[in-house]
Amino acid sequence: MPEVVTRDPATGRELGRYPAHDEAAVEQALAETAAAAPGWAATPLGERLALLRTVGKLLTERRDEYAALITAEMGKPLAESLAEIDKCAWNCSVVADLAPEWLADRPVSASAAQSWISYEPLGVIFAVMPWNFPFWQVLRFACAALAAGNTALLKHSPDVTGCALAIEELFESLQPGLFRALVIDAGRVADVSRRIILDPRIAAVTLTGSERAGAAVAEAAGTACKKTVLELGGSDPFVVLADASISAAADAAARSRFGNAGQSCVAAKRFIVVEEVADEFVAALLASLETTQIGPLARADLRDNAIRQIEETVAAGARLLTGGRPVDGPGYFLEPAVLDHVTPGMAAFTEETFGPVAAVVRARDDDHAVALANDTDFGLGCSVWGATGHALAVGRRIRSGALFVNAPVASDPRLPFGGIGRSGHGRELSAEGVREFTNLRTVAVA
Ligand code: NDP
Repeated sequence: MPEVVTRDPATGRELGRYPAHDEAAVEQALAETAAAAPGWAATPLGERLALLRTVGKLLTERRDEYAALITAEMGKPLAESLAEIDKCAWNCSVVADLAPEWLADRPVSASAAQSWISYEPLGVIFAVMPWNFPFWQVLRFACAALAAGNTALLKHSPDVTGCALAIEELFESLQPGLFRALVIDAGRVADVSRRIILDPRIAAVTLTGSERAGAAVAEAAGTACKKTVLELGGSDPFVVLADASISAAADAAARSRFGNAGQSCVAAKRFIVVEEVADEFVAALLASLETTQIGPLARADLRDNAIRQIEETVAAGARLLTGGRPVDGPGYFLEPAVLDHVTPGMAAFTEETFGPVAAVVRARDDDHAVALANDTDFGLGCSVWGATGHALAVGRRIRSGALFVNAPVASDPRLPFGGIGRSGHGRELSAEGVREFTNLRTVAVA
């Protein structure tokens, strides 16, 4: 029988073996979420949100257990896993508090005597999620989908199958059928996902992950004329202007780039620094690195890919100032790397670097910094450092789904999150994220 095997990235040791769902089990999960959808849609919003509050409470009660599971399966340090669970619990309470406002009918003055927009549930939402924030990525989607009155079917990354099943168990213990998780072995992912997306019982699809996976899922959704929300990768610019506080910028740069071992879509990836402060910034970044603690990368192939990107970037003329070597011994550890004099066309500039690899790009002046920041097909976040008015003016000229001034890009349940270009489309979190999973319905009464 096909199985999914999970491993501890810190040791390479096997953690668990899970039987993959066969056709009948996939059908059962789909049928259960579809059967639960009408009843959940008809459940008053207050009751739906009460369930989310309970989810948040249980996450907090079980934070040690869940955080240990995250660390075991994808390798981040325990403190980061605990912070991830706490953020999920926070999201539950923010959604529970604010969804009544986000989902309330919106009156509009038009020709009819009365008209308004209402936000109505769609049905079953299919979610394909990655391993980098195994609880956050799922809870972020699930809270929005369930608050809006939908049910949810998850295909999680096989690397974090224990997390997927723990989240399923949490929801199932409260109300069966609202949230089911599938366990799909590697050879069948594309086929099974496609069939699920084409199934008439699925209303819409959301994916967080690579462009390759996003394109495959969106192609199937396009065939079936179904809505998608795609949260793909990024190559976020972190722009440091001449009037920036260099020590604050370098500290934030190190936290943003090396948190989660660099495996975050909104991590700062290209550090675009105007020449007159570049040496000072690089020295401060290297100093911040001395106190940085990171875990292993989540899989061997992810480390191999980061090393390839470093090697190709150096071969193309950049300077490797520190790190970049695999750590001897078991596990998928990689020394944090800082590359200087990176230029457009090099791997660390053009591709998404999903590991502890900082690429410093030197800009002649503000105009050059803007041109470099925009020289990418991605467009997720952007962080600009400098005197506030100056940094804001420069930031407005850069294309991205989010602009943070004198702060690293971060998600917040009260603010929309998502990208443009090859970073995807649609938004998660906040009113916009909850409304993505609704039928935005026009009502006019003569
Ligand atoms: P993937 O995009 O392959 O994985 C993300 C999810 O998509 C997983 O559940 C995966 O399942 C699924 N998936 C992949 N192909 C398909 C398909 N054809 N149909 C349906 N589902 C699919 O990412 P990787 O783990 O391989 O990481 C590769 C790169 O992707 C990273 O280096 C990074 O650049 C980017 N990435 C970006 C993330 C983000 O937060 N935006 C998160 C993770 C990765 P399965 O693993 O079973 O194939």
